[in-house]
Amino acid sequence: MLLKSGYVSVFYFLGYMIHLKSLEEIYLLREAALLVSKTLGMLAKEVKEGVTTKYLDSLAYDFIKDHKAMPAFLGYGGFPATLCTSPNEQVVHGIPNEIPLKNGDILSVDCGVFLNGYVGDHAYTFGVGEVPEDIKKLLSVSKESLYLGMAECVRGKRVGDISYAIQHHCEKEGYGVVRELVGHGIGKSLHEDPQVPNYGRKGSGKVLKNGTVLAIEPMINLGTEKVKFHSDGWTVTTQDQKPSAHFEHDVAIIEGKPILLSTFSYVYDALGISSEEEKNFQYRW
Ligand code: MG
Ligand code: MG
Repeated sequence: MLLKSGYVSVFYFLGYMIHLKSLEEIYLLREAALLVSKTLGMLAKEVKEGVTTKYLDSLAYDFIKDHKAMPAFLGYGGFPATLCTSPNEQVVHGIPNEIPLKNGDILSVDCGVFLNGYVGDHAYTFGVGEVPEDIKKLLSVSKESLYLGMAECVRGKRVGDISYAIQHHCEKEGYGVVRELVGHGIGKSLHEDPQVPNYGRKGSGKVLKNGTVLAIEPMINLGTEKVKFHSDGWTVTTQDQKPSAHFEHDVAIIEGKPILLSTFSYVYDALGISSEEEKNFQYRW
């Protein structure tokens, strides 16, 4: 789940300080993030033609409860479900419903849990059956931008370095980088300081320190960057109705370097994908 950059400014004043986490706290955040990773891995096998997002939501609810955790989105600001399920032109915050997925759809699944007092928040965009090549490319470039952003999570760099890396990689492909919604710090609360926009200037924004934990989440549109907020209070779509991708990881800075707390490895195991993309972000726990 994301922050709406407009109405967050109130919250922003309340939580102005970045809360730096101890290694013990980061370990607990990792446990929460990994439960989300496992939930996404479980769902990866279920995302297919004919399945409804409401069904996926019920699977996720049961899975999280079975692991002695709580869904973090359910009831957050009145959100009615465990997952945000956002097909095709929906950018984020889609509400699960009874409409079956179709061959060629894409589906962003964003999931959050509370486990032992800490939050995990992490998302993946799945293809349903045969996805057109131009949309497959949108997915891979968007995911690449997440890893490029993560690589900037180095002690002494700034939030704007993350933002710039994501924006630059996606805009050179001609994609629209959503402005109104941003990534965020994460800890005992779902949304903490600082905001992490997916666009910005190198060397701008807050300085990154050891113990900073961020949820980085590019939302990248095939067409225009412009989005529409719907009257249900949640759903966000692209203004031109073209598809949008969303990938999110939880990342901590430990010993000056970016360490992944979440992982796509459960998704990749389920889908038979092999990838080296996470190998530079590991820590010996
Ligand atoms: Mg999220
Ligand atoms: Mg988030």
